Amino acid sequence: MPRPITATIHLSALRHNYDIARQHGGTAKVWAVVKANAYGHGLAFAVRALQDADGLALVEVDGAIKIRELGWTKPVLLLEGFFHASDVPLVAQHQIDVAVHCNEQIALLEQAEFAADVGAGALIRVHLKVNTGMNRLGFKPGDIAAAYQRLTAIKAVQVVDLMMHFANADDEFNPGLPLAEQLRRFGQAQTALHGAKIEFSLSNSAANLLHDEIKNDWVRAGIMLYGGSPGAAQASSFGLLPAMTLRSELIAIQDVEAGESVGYGSRFVAAKAMRIGVVACGYADGYPRHAVDGTPVLVNGLRTTMVGRVSMDMITVDVTDIADAQVGSVVTLWGQGLPIDDVARAADTIGYELMCAVAQRVQLVAEE
Ligand SMILES: *Cc1c(COP(=O)(O)O)cnc(C)c1O
Repeated sequence: MPRPITATIHLSALRHNYDIARQHGGTAKVWAVVKANAYGHGLAFAVRALQDADGLALVEVDGAIKIRELGWTKPVLLLEGFFHASDVPLVAQHQIDVAVHCNEQIALLEQAEFAADVGAGALIRVHLKVNTGMNRLGFKPGDIAAAYQRLTAIKAVQVVDLMMHFANADDEFNPGLPLAEQLRRFGQAQTALHGAKIEFSLSNSAANLLHDEIKNDWVRAGIMLYGGSPGAAQASSFGLLPAMTLRSELIAIQDVEAGESVGYGSRFVAAKAMRIGVVACGYADGYPRHAVDGTPVLVNGLRTTMVGRVSMDMITVDVTDIADAQVGSVVTLWGQGLPIDDVARAADTIGYELMCAVAQRVQLVAEE
């Protein structure tokens, strides 16, 4: 028997959450963002569940090719574009759209002899990226026209889209960079391309959920598909359902007296006599090591708390008041019945990180 920890992937929840992304997007098409192994949910499962998506977007070249091998014929987009000259013939061959965010990438397209590898009709669809203040990827609005001209001069390139990425769409009036300023800069880039027949893609999950007024031809929905919140609001307040439930079992129970400690570093000291359940789940499974005493967990469906430091293969939980708790009892670490964002908060992180960090040794099991 394998160790009793599994991540159940709820395919119907993925579909339900996709529908919510579509509703908020209005007439926009939806890129389902499936980078990082579909935020830890398994790329193949996500592709299976999201057959209705208009396109799939990710950052891994090998993942994009795998999507094609899975039989996906609709658009696939590399959100960071390609990284090396050798990627260029691959994206042409597999008809993978690419973001282009810097002059070095344009130079690679100019130099590429990919047409020789893939036939004279090869065409690479490019999504031109604007830096609207995040200062990671993209051309400044004032440099967009030159980048566009250089790209359109390449015979095998078609610029299809202008895209941007919000730095803080969950925090509209952030004094460091208000949302309105990011939109103004994007508008500047749009103006610079006046007359060009291209589409626009602005919104991630936060902008999609919170700012229906932002007009997109394509929205890019990531975390919301997986039932996580992009900000402070509860995911359930948007009608989102968890797409992953991480479950394990109690593998031991310890009775401790008042004054005894539990786990490494003896961080937790029992104030009274307690029953402690030992769960087969630790940081080597992706459970956050920074989770504090009091982090929520479900045992036999009842909410209780983690106590003591997270170790590599185990955590310890308070089952004093859960009378039927025994070896073999089901423990929910997050998912159905326990929002991943609640666990993330107790570990000073975000749901995104927890999902993506589910370890290889945890078996992913798909369920309708
Ligand atoms: C990851 C990513 C997204 C999705 O962001 P969420 O907050 O998960 O919705 C959208 N756009 C780009 C460019 C990304 O890299």
